[in-house]
Amino acid sequence: MKLLEERILKDGVALNSDVLLVDSFLNHQVDMGLMQEIGREFARIFAGKGINKIATIESSGIAPAGQAALAMGVPLLVMKKSTSSILSEELLQTPVASFTKGSTYQLTTKRKYLSKGDSVLFIDDFLANGEAALGAARLIESAGATVAGIGIVIEKAFQPGRLRLIEAGYHPVSLAAVSHMETGIISFVESVS
Ligand code: 5GP
Repeated sequence: MKLLEERILKDGVALNSDVLLVDSFLNHQVDMGLMQEIGREFARIFAGKGINKIATIESSGIAPAGQAALAMGVPLLVMKKSTSSILSEELLQTPVASFTKGSTYQLTTKRKYLSKGDSVLFIDDFLANGEAALGAARLIESAGATVAGIGIVIEKAFQPGRLRLIEAGYHPVSLAAVSHMETGIISFVESVS
C-alpha cells in the first residue's frame, strides 16, 4: 500500500535493525484518516471470503482492525493481554511471547464472543516472529471458529513470522513489508498487496 509505505518512510523510525517505531501515526498517536484507508484496503482484499468477525489484540491492533470492521460491517473482537476481575465468564486463553516486552502474556477472550462457524479475520499492527498471530489463531480455532484470513499492517519480512504462519497453514497478507532496516534506512519488499 503506497500511502502506508510513504508514511513509514516519512515518519517511521528504525530504532535498530529489529524494531520499527511508528508511534506518531499507528502505535501511540494515531492518524485515523490513514487507519480508515487501511481499513478499506483490508475490506477490499478480504471481500467475498465470508468473514463475519474481525479479531485483534489490544491495544495497537484496535485502530486499524476497527476501521476494517467498520468497512466490512462486522463486529470487532479485541483479545486481551491480561485477565481482570471483570473477565469472570468462561475464558479462552493461550500463552504468547511478546516481541516488544520480552515476556509472555496470556492472550484472553471470553468464550461467548467466538462461536463454532464464525469465519474470523485476524488483523494486527505488526508481524515479527508470528507469536501474536499464531496465538490468536489458536484461540479462534479452540472455539471451533475458522481463521478466514490474517491481515497485517506492517510485516518485517526479514523476521520469521511469515514462514511460521505459512508452515502452520495460514497465508498472511501485509499492506507494507519491510525487507531491511538500519538506523536511518528502511526498505520494502516490492508490491506486497
Ligand atoms: P510477533 O508476535 O509477530 O513476534 O510480533 C507482533 C507483535 O509485536 C505486534 O502485535 C506488535 O505489537 C509487536 N511488534 C513486533 N515488532 C514490532 C516493531 O518493530 N515495532 C512495534 N511498534 N511493535 C512491534
